[in-house]
This record gives sequence, C-alpha cells and structure tokens, in this order.
Amino acid sequence: MKTFFLILVLITCISFVPIKKAKVIIIQPFGKFSNSESKIVFEKIKKIFPKVVLKKNISFPAKSFYKPRNRYRADLLIKFMSSSIGKDSVIIGLSNKDISTTNGKVKDWGVMGLGFCPGNACIVSSFRLSKNNKNAQFYKVALHELGHTQGLQHCKNKTCLMRDAKGGNPFNEEKDFCSSCKNYLKKKINFIRL
Ligand SMILES: [Zn+2]
Ligand SMILES: [Zn+2]
Repeated sequence: MKTFFLILVLITCISFVPIKKAKVIIIQPFGKFSNSESKIVFEKIKKIFPKVVLKKNISFPAKSFYKPRNRYRADLLIKFMSSSIGKDSVIIGLSNKDISTTNGKVKDWGVMGLGFCPGNACIVSSFRLSKNNKNAQFYKVALHELGHTQGLQHCKNKTCLMRDAKGGNPFNEEKDFCSSCKNYLKKKINFIRL
C-alpha cells in the first residue's frame, strides 16, 4: 500500500514539473536579401542557439507594401510570419528594404526592426544601418528583436543590446546583453549560450 502511494505521489509530481519545450528559431529572408548575409546571421545565431533553420527567400506579401513611401509594413510582416509557424518556433524575417510601422500619431514610421513582445515573430531591416560595420549592427538588431519575442523590454544599460535606439543608431556602443537581460534569457531558454 505504501509503495503504491509513493509511486502515485511521484507520478503526480512529475506531471507538474514544467517541461521547457525546445524552441526552434526560423530565419526567413524576404525579397532579394543576400544569401551570404543570411548565412552570416544563421551562423552567428547558431553559436548561441543551436536549433536554428535558414529558409529560402520568399517574396514580400503584396499587402505589406506601403506605396506612398515605397516600403513594407513591419507590423503586417510579423503577423504574416507569426501565422505561418508552429507553436514552439520563433521566426525572424530579414529585409534589405525599408520597413515601417505606426508609432503614436505617426502613421508610417520607418524602423530597423520590430518584434512582438512577447511573441513568436520579429523582423529586421538592414536599410537604415550605416555602411561600415553593417553586418555586426544587423546582428545586434536581430538579437534585440529576438529578445523582445522572449518578453524582454527595453533596458537602460547603454551597452546592452536591449537599449532603446530611439530613432538613432547606438549599435556601436552596444556590446552584449547586460547581466540582468542575460539572466532573464537563460531562465527562459535553458540551452541558450550567452
Ligand atoms: Zn526594441
Ligand atoms: Zn539589459
């Protein structure tokens, strides 16, 4: 009788231990985003997050095009990507075209990236980045947006990747996630290497 009770308790305990599902990061380049630049992002993400998949380029969805400014709506792109993936995935879109979203009273505001916070989709654009150091900056924006998908808010630490760009380009000052943002991500994703 005692053994039976012990087994029952054990089974009950096990079923209440939360299982951290292995997340997959999907990289989705849009339009004519260069393959070599996609691969750079892929290889860099792979070093900190082994479960990453690089998809082939797809066209921008027609409805995401904002004709008055000749650019693509980031909010529509992340909604589009979000509905295309499974539950345990996070998708990041790559664009070399300008992207925009509504920001307060500004209906169409150009951005370097946008991500659900929290959520399963984000997009980054290389269009507004300075020519020198472009790949390094692009990767920083990618990590920033992926951080948002995991629920990270903007951070006051000036060298942290989660710093608010506030319409500028602070990327050369940003070094890494600060220790508190790192700890948050490590708790959230048990196999991340930060
Ligand atoms: Zn942000
Ligand atoms: Zn931080």
